[in-house]
Amino acid sequence: MSLLASLAFLLAQQGSPPPEGAVVLFDGKDASAWLHRGTGGACQWDVVDGCLVVKAGTPDIVTKQVFGDYRLHLEFWLPLMKDAEGQARANSGVYQHGRYEIQILDSWENPTYAKGGCGAIYDQKDPDRDAIRPPEKWNTYDIEFRAPRFGEGGRMTAKPRVTVVHNGVRIHDDVEIEKPSTAAALDDGPQPAMGPILLQNHGNPVRFRNIWVLPLDPR
Ligand code: MG
Repeated sequence: MSLLASLAFLLAQQGSPPPEGAVVLFDGKDASAWLHRGTGGACQWDVVDGCLVVKAGTPDIVTKQVFGDYRLHLEFWLPLMKDAEGQARANSGVYQHGRYEIQILDSWENPTYAKGGCGAIYDQKDPDRDAIRPPEKWNTYDIEFRAPRFGEGGRMTAKPRVTVVHNGVRIHDDVEIEKPSTAAALDDGPQPAMGPILLQNHGNPVRFRNIWVLPLDPR
């Protein structure tokens, strides 16, 4: 990543306004950028106090729009579920292209299996450092995603790559995503050049706010 992009990443904190050219995915009021997975119906998650709250019994939500390379900012708040353990404690996730999950989980003082805690590229790589805040505090993710590249005959020439900054701490630095999809992906067929962003409903009332995505030119 260039020095300037690194700086922009590290300066991106709670309340970071969408930069020029960004697509606002949730502004505190309007969830119309999202549809439910499978049904294609309008997003039924609750909008409360400027937050989009995962609603039990509904499917994941997926952006209407698809993206290639991008920078994504989102903020999330994990409810305290002290009687739940491991993967059952405030689980959600944000999937790049609907298929590569960056885990969202209350793994604060809540051990879970390797490559499954908050910030993990699910089932591939733990975060380089643990940057999670305690439950009931806001966290930020700033994600730079680079789509797979294709050459002649649609053959993949480069796998997708991801950089993740969690609460201002770089936890993955331009990491190649090895598998064509992670668990519970929208699609596990051939990898596309563009795809939506998906937020996972794992049955826990995780809150989101200030979600925007800035499409990037291929580098
Ligand atoms: Mg998850």
